[in-house]
Amino acid sequence: MEIVIVSQEEVHRLLPMARCIDVMETALRTLARGDAVQPLRSAMWLPDDSGLLGLMPAYLGGDVAAMGVKAISVMMADHGDGDSHQGTVTLFDREDGRPLAIVDARAITAIRTAATSAVATRLLAREEANDLAILGSGVQARSHLEAMLAVRLLGRIRVWSRTPAHAQAYGEWAAAEHGVTVEVTPSAEDAVTGASIICTVTAAPKPILKGAWLSPGAHINAVGSSVRFTRELDTGAVAGSRLFVDRRESTLNEAGDFLFPQEEGVIDENHIQAEIGDVLLGHTPGRETDEEITLFKSLGLGVEDVAAAHFVYRQAIRQGLGATVEL
Ligand code: NDP
Repeated sequence: MEIVIVSQEEVHRLLPMARCIDVMETALRTLARGDAVQPLRSAMWLPDDSGLLGLMPAYLGGDVAAMGVKAISVMMADHGDGDSHQGTVTLFDREDGRPLAIVDARAITAIRTAATSAVATRLLAREEANDLAILGSGVQARSHLEAMLAVRLLGRIRVWSRTPAHAQAYGEWAAAEHGVTVEVTPSAEDAVTGASIICTVTAAPKPILKGAWLSPGAHINAVGSSVRFTRELDTGAVAGSRLFVDRRESTLNEAGDFLFPQEEGVIDENHIQAEIGDVLLGHTPGRETDEEITLFKSLGLGVEDVAAAHFVYRQAIRQGLGATVEL
């Protein structure tokens, strides 16, 4: 039995951001139509809580017809020189169950997460939103800059990061990679004041974004916290926003950004306006006024990984890339 192995470098080559945004839109529509299987992910924590191994299986029907599972390690403090998220997406034939491919998950995770935020931003941010703030300067901060550049004409970009040298390096990378000027700010508040699009992409366990700092009409992509015991947004930021999510069930089980304000009794489940897929299908309106603040809470879904990996696999076959090995 033959299987194709696709490397990190090949994923970057085969999955340009603009294509991945379309792939994520299709995946989220497929999920919202009920033509996908998306269980909650399972996480096996190490005994000392220093990291976890996550398993994210998913199936997509429709034109995609893909089945697979992402197995991903997330080490909290020390991930050496590697990305914070490392692993593989294994794809299977949905008819006969054969394993088809093993695709590097670092690049898939970096690109698909930002592409999903781009889908949400395209739907929910004001058309003229052009003032971007990024909180964080790691892998997701980089892919999110590319994703935001793909969906809005940005006139101003600010970044804040806990370690000032990392924010500085980020600014230099952005100039070299994308030819844009990024202002490095001394505080998160300085980065977000007046911003119309905000991406929170940190591993912070406690809020780094406060509702009091937000301007009317802003759109937020809250990406960094994907477990129930951490959050990046304070209660005011969540309560003061119209909340859209990637998946309702995941939000109620995994999103500290939602669960902390809920436990405080400030919001309840009705605060979730809709899943992004429902907005894509036109079942629920997205932004309704120029003044409201919209919030997309991203947790990351197996359908996103499987759809992205399946696209990469088909491109690899078409272009003769990837290493074919006998199992
Ligand atoms: P990186 O390790 O590349 O970057 C981590 C970033 O978080 C750095 O900018 C770091 O700042 C910042 N940070 C870490 N601890 C703190 C803290 N206590 N306070 C403030 N900032 C902090 O990680 P990634 O970019 O790969 O991932 C970022 C976050 O996004 C993670 O929490 C990850 O779990 C999450 N994630 C979410 C996904 C989703 O689908 N929603 C998918 C993938 C990741 P500095 O370096 O300046 O100290």
